[in-house]
Amino acid sequence: MAGPDEVMRGGMAPAAGRPMLSEAELERRRGRPWTLRVVKAFDINPHMRRVQLTGDNLEEFTPKPGQEIVLQIPQPAGEPARRHYTIRRFDAASKLLDVDFVLHGHRTPGVSWSLDAKPGDVIDIRGPRGRIGLNPDADWHLFLGDETCVPAIFALIEALPKAAPAFAFIEVGTAADQQELKAQAHVKLQWLLRDGAAPGPSDLLSKALASFIFPSGKGHAIVIGETSNVRNQRHALIERGFDKSQIYAEGYWRPGRVGGHDHVND
Ligand SMILES: Cc1cc2nc3c(=O)[nH]c(=O)nc-3n(C[C@H](O)[C@H](O)[C@H](O)COP(=O)(O)OP(=O)(O)OC[C@H]3O[C@@H](n4cnc5c(N)ncnc54)[C@H](O)[C@@H]3O)c2cc1C
Repeated sequence: MAGPDEVMRGGMAPAAGRPMLSEAELERRRGRPWTLRVVKAFDINPHMRRVQLTGDNLEEFTPKPGQEIVLQIPQPAGEPARRHYTIRRFDAASKLLDVDFVLHGHRTPGVSWSLDAKPGDVIDIRGPRGRIGLNPDADWHLFLGDETCVPAIFALIEALPKAAPAFAFIEVGTAADQQELKAQAHVKLQWLLRDGAAPGPSDLLSKALASFIFPSGKGHAIVIGETSNVRNQRHALIERGFDKSQIYAEGYWRPGRVGGHDHVND
């Protein structure tokens, strides 16, 4: 497990079995620093708020679909709070970058910053960063995640070529949290509703995965979201014949964790 604070600080003891990274490699993984300005902020559904950002030199900002930035959110005292958010969309012509924040009900740095954001506010970020990506050689694509993953899953599906069949299962709180997906690929998207249950460890996605009949050919799976759910889904895929190399798995959040992300390879 490695959080952004670990990567940001660098020089810490490596996690068991992982090699110590050079300062140059750590710096590369942190991503380039940028200072952005808020253009506007608005709710796109009851639990998702979009903040549009821009910057002066964004012609050099070249994200790949699904990649993230790390916001450095100023705090009244001490270090900024570093939080990972997906680049939902980047329009190079207008230099507009959309970031979608889940309003998960806690007044945490990420949520508070998105709720308070107003035009002209300035924020330091690092990025684009992250190894998430499509496998162009796959015969079909599978996406599993919760509401924190809608920006990544949608950005990735929108980047798929027309001929690529894709299947997505996304867990959200209520029907009002569903979003419309426009993609050229042939996509089957199924929303799974918690209907009042709190987000967190749950078997909603695992059950949907269990009844999903794999198409023929070689699949590639992007499995993201709450860490324990991601781990269970990854195990289920491996049990059903997926090779580890066919799965990208990453924990985006979990109850009690502050910022960061979880590698899921156990
Ligand atoms: C690569 C990557 C990309 C991500 N992309 C997005 C994105 O585009 N949009 C997005 O909203 N999130 C995204 N996340 C998840 C987001 O970084 C975390 O949810 C983060 O914890 C939010 O910061 P915070 O300040 O709100 O809460 P924190 O201060 O980090 O967490 C405090 C507590 O709040 C609770 N909590 C945090 N997140 C959630 C949640 N989603 N649901 C319920 N309780 C929660 C937990 O109990 C946690 O201990 C991404 C994470 C990663 C690793």
